Amino acid sequence: MIYKGGCHCGRIKFEVEGNIESVVECNCSICKNRGYLLWFVGREQLHLATPEADLASYSFNKKVIKHNFCPTCGSGVFGIGTDKTGAAKVAVNVRCLDDIDLTKLKIMPFDGRSL
Ligand SMILES: [Zn+2]
Repeated sequence: MIYKGGCHCGRIKFEVEGNIESVVECNCSICKNRGYLLWFVGREQLHLATPEADLASYSFNKKVIKHNFCPTCGSGVFGIGTDKTGAAKVAVNVRCLDDIDLTKLKIMPFDGRSL
């Protein structure tokens, strides 16, 4: 399945290939603050439909994750980092996907605050 998504104003558009088994609701400082519901996929499953240079990004703490957002409207669309094996991973904020019923998702709480 291919999900289309993007920011609120439309400057950032992307597609993600895959099936959403579950999403992570994490209690760490940034997830709590931005209200992320995250779907983890491989970097190759994300296809940007707008220029990568249009993304703004924010990093903090160890600065290993780029929390990407739209510089115009501020939507936090996805984060990019690497897993333990060094593979590039994307945490897609499913709130930024089109045509998604958030009430139908299996939400997995994650205690990121304690890490
Ligand atoms: Zn935008």
